[in-house]
Amino acid sequence: MSECIFCKIINKEIPAKIVYEDNKVIAFNDINPVASIHILFLPKLHIKNINCLNETNYSYIINIHQAIQKVAIKLNINEQGYRVISNCGKGAGQTVFHLHYHLLSGNSLDPKII
Ligand code: AMP
Ligand code: ZN
Repeated sequence: MSECIFCKIINKEIPAKIVYEDNKVIAFNDINPVASIHILFLPKLHIKNINCLNETNYSYIINIHQAIQKVAIKLNINEQGYRVISNCGKGAGQTVFHLHYHLLSGNSLDPKII
């Protein structure tokens, strides 16, 4: 059994507010949102972070972007705009070591930092 909290969510061992799911990707609300829309997108494969992408798992990144597009349209934020962030490594603030992309949008979106 995996000790990874995101693998546990993928395996439905712990609950999450799932907003999108297919055979390669799951997306759910962040438990500690920093914007009015804060959704995490992750591959249904335990990849630690961007450093661990390779020829055998790059394809998940395409699926994740397809999922982000679909959710942005569903939530009607595709025109107003949104931000996608992946923290890679402790130095960047990564706290869960299963690759994920934060989708942030809504009226409480932090000021642009880069
Ligand atoms: P990061 O700090 O970039 O690794 O992002 C990890 C994110 O996962 C944080 O924004 C947390 O709030 C979020 N998180 C941690 N545990 C859970 C959980 N059980 N359900 C939903 N989001 C979570
Ligand atoms: Zn995992």
